[in-house]
Amino acid sequence: MYLALCATVFLTAYVLNLVTITVGYHRGLAHGAVRLHPRLRRLIVMTGNWVTGLDPKAWVVMHRMHHAHSDTPKDPHSPVNVGIIGVAMAQLRSYERVLRGLMRNEPAFTKFAYDLDFELNWTNRTRRWYLPYLAHAVVATAIAASGAWLLGLAYFVGMMSHPFQGGMVNAFGHAVGGRNFETNDNSRNNLLVAWLIAGEGLQNNHHRYPNSAKFSYRSWEPDAGFMVCLALETLGLVTIDYEQLIPAPPQGGVAAQPEAPPQGGVAAQPERRIAA
Ligand SMILES: [Zn+2]
Ligand SMILES: [Zn+2]
Repeated sequence: MYLALCATVFLTAYVLNLVTITVGYHRGLAHGAVRLHPRLRRLIVMTGNWVTGLDPKAWVVMHRMHHAHSDTPKDPHSPVNVGIIGVAMAQLRSYERVLRGLMRNEPAFTKFAYDLDFELNWTNRTRRWYLPYLAHAVVATAIAASGAWLLGLAYFVGMMSHPFQGGMVNAFGHAVGGRNFETNDNSRNNLLVAWLIAGEGLQNNHHRYPNSAKFSYRSWEPDAGFMVCLALETLGLVTIDYEQLIPAPPQGGVAAQPEAPPQGGVAAQPERRIAA
């Protein structure tokens, strides 16, 4: 019973991080593939940094830079440049660089925030980036100090899962796996990462159709993130942009290649606006 409780707490914390990033930050704020209900959008902007330790504005800007410069020397976290092992450190350094650039209002960074009508979280504006991590550590320690050390550990590891989640996607999603589409980058569809990280491992599909809420193309490609989008849509919390959805594969199994791959994903479409 106790072990089941630990597993439940870990999974809840893991999924909370995952959904905040893949639906809130990624499919919602970064790409507008789903339009977030204004209240949900406000909730994610206000609490996302506390849940994940990652600032929503800085995350979106770094991610749009990734799409604009995918697997080129300007990519913030490409295994082509730094190897699979180097991605974890590269994404951390790039994230810090983006935070500094946004605080200094440098156009190289602010141009990727054209529709983000909110500030960096105050913890980052005041260089107290560590507060969310400290808060989770205090909660975990309090649980452990009550005698339930495994429960405290389960909570902490689950809440701190975002570097693992991001690292797996950014490393293996651009290095290991098959490709459905010819794109100007090294994006791959890594099924193991897609299972673990709610469809985010399907980077080749995503880079070909960056504004699609659905990342899966073949019937066997897992995309739990899109399932969450569908569930949230029935609750009226998001609106899926069905016009941008990845097309169904043609009968016979040959991937659709309707036109040249888009250059730079969201960054190439500054006219797209996400409702506040
Ligand atoms: Zn990518
Ligand atoms: Zn993306």
